[in-house]
Amino acid sequence: MKSEREIFEAYLIKRHLRGTPQRGMILDTFLKREEHITAEQLYDIVKKRDPSIGQATVYRVLKLMVEAGLAREVDFGDGVMRYEHCYNHPHHDHLVCRGCGKTVEVLDSVIEELQKRVAESFGYELTDHEMYLYGLCQTCRKKKA
Ligand SMILES: [Zn+2]
Ligand SMILES: [Zn+2]
Ligand SMILES: [Zn+2]
Repeated sequence: MKSEREIFEAYLIKRHLRGTPQRGMILDTFLKREEHITAEQLYDIVKKRDPSIGQATVYRVLKLMVEAGLAREVDFGDGVMRYEHCYNHPHHDHLVCRGCGKTVEVLDSVIEELQKRVAESFGYELTDHEMYLYGLCQTCRKKKA
């Protein structure tokens, strides 16, 4: 199995882009963190290690990681795009609290199977999907009551 670094470097070569130490550092920083991270948060972390890194560089590397299949964008409906690892990570969906933004990663085999069946009933072969369930978490429900 190829490492994420190898995949990223192969993708840069394919796109005729240079692998700079800054790009490598942004990639490593992203890979080390297991949570859903915004471009802003990633920028805050990397600029502490290398203040010469610009925000545009971080955005560009994130975009390249998505294109290379290493990261995926997740949209929790609050107007901020977040990123999570996607290579070598099993598929999951997200449950999002509308009150505090808390998220849970969920997987339900019945729903997964149903989605395939819905696609097939229209003659589609399902390649991928995203599912977000929005609601209020327990803490937020108690606050409301
Ligand atoms: Zn799913
Ligand atoms: Zn909540
Ligand atoms: Zn996730």
